[in-house]
Amino acid sequence: MAKTIQAVRGMNDILPDQTAAWQHLEAVLRDVAQAYGYREIRLPIIEKTELFKRSIGEVTDIVEKEMYTFDDRNGESLTLRPEGTAGCVRACMEHGMLHNQVQRLWYTGPMFRHERPQQGRYRQFYQVGVEAFGMEGPDIDAELIFMTARMWRSLGLNDLTLQINSLGTTAARAGYKTALVEYLRGCFGELDADSQRRIDSNPMRILDSKNPAMAAVINGAPVLPDYLDDESRVHFGALCAFLDDAGIVYEVNPRLVRGLDYYSRTVFEWVTGKLGAQGTVCAGGRFDGLVEYLGGRATPAIGFALGLERLIALLQANAVELPAHTPHVYLVLGGTQGVRRGMVFAGELRAMLTGLRLETNCGNGSFKSQFKRADRSGAAIALVIGDDEAAQGQVTLKPLRSEGDQQVLAQQDIASHLGERLGLQLNR
Ligand code: ATP
Ligand code: MG
Repeated sequence: MAKTIQAVRGMNDILPDQTAAWQHLEAVLRDVAQAYGYREIRLPIIEKTELFKRSIGEVTDIVEKEMYTFDDRNGESLTLRPEGTAGCVRACMEHGMLHNQVQRLWYTGPMFRHERPQQGRYRQFYQVGVEAFGMEGPDIDAELIFMTARMWRSLGLNDLTLQINSLGTTAARAGYKTALVEYLRGCFGELDADSQRRIDSNPMRILDSKNPAMAAVINGAPVLPDYLDDESRVHFGALCAFLDDAGIVYEVNPRLVRGLDYYSRTVFEWVTGKLGAQGTVCAGGRFDGLVEYLGGRATPAIGFALGLERLIALLQANAVELPAHTPHVYLVLGGTQGVRRGMVFAGELRAMLTGLRLETNCGNGSFKSQFKRADRSGAAIALVIGDDEAAQGQVTLKPLRSEGDQQVLAQQDIASHLGERLGLQLNR
């Protein structure tokens, strides 16, 4: 027999037992984003390779070794998106959404990076991203952070900590970079190969290294806040004041960086200690230079992205109670007339009770085997329609998970009876 084909390494199936948690998470994140006036944008999963090379930068882990890039049948180089910001900025520019206006946008979907798969790190993973264009902040910076804090509260998560930093302007960072490169040259022998290569092209990325052997070098490096320009200092102070007003606790981490030239000022991350090495669930920052860098008019911008797998893992680690999607009701059917009446009756009940999850027995079977299926479905209640019930306009109701006798009800009364029992709204 041929070997069965398995999923691509690092790409997960999200099975029906898990999707209730995913849908809950997605609904909460969507509702919070929309409560802040952000509108959804849906973007292609594939973009021209050039877009990512230019926007993320050639000398980054993502572009150097993580992208899924291929030539299509016309020989054009395309890439499965490794993140959402590039495509979002591309779409906004292409559709004239940035000139003389502000945009508050969110998106969700799979991202693809060829990384070493491990807990919390996959090759296809899902993000929710939020981007705001046309506002210089610091109020909008604060708004985005408030929004993330609201998301954690709505999810029942209270063990995430906020780290923030300011990268200053490109000009101010130039002075810092000189000092950093000088320092790094002084300990060249201790740098790993990636870092040695980046010392000229992208020295700040070295501070972002995940290699534990680099920790000592990184800890001894000069820090950015010592080189901040006055305006960025004021901007950062105002952001901190907004956070204080809202009672949001934060830690200023002078080593938090994004190593690209178009990043500026505010950067932030939400981190947990509960997920091991993959503890960052959300990362964001201001990228005032990107739109211009991609050929548009200079446009201030800030955004963040959060990793849904890591949030799901955190919800599980905290044993946060999540809604189940098991049916409320399993409909057991017997006899030709019972089956015919039942098939129609099931539709009537669903139409009358908003939110009712009713599974109809299909494929016949003895009452005994149907009750076994009812039990396995997780339903709380079985309804039975056999030929007798069909003839008399009745239904037999049997609780499956609680005490209580079975009872016979008129079919016309069952919707209001179930509505009360299950707390569902009756439509008339
Ligand atoms: P990391 O430092 O963990 O590699 P990153 O800086 O590459 O993260 P971003 O590009 O800022 O991550 O993406 C934002 C968020 O998306 C991360 O904080 C994380 O929650 C999630 N994420 C990033 N890469 C992966 C991945 N390979 N698998 C699962 N989630 C991921
Ligand atoms: Mg990464």
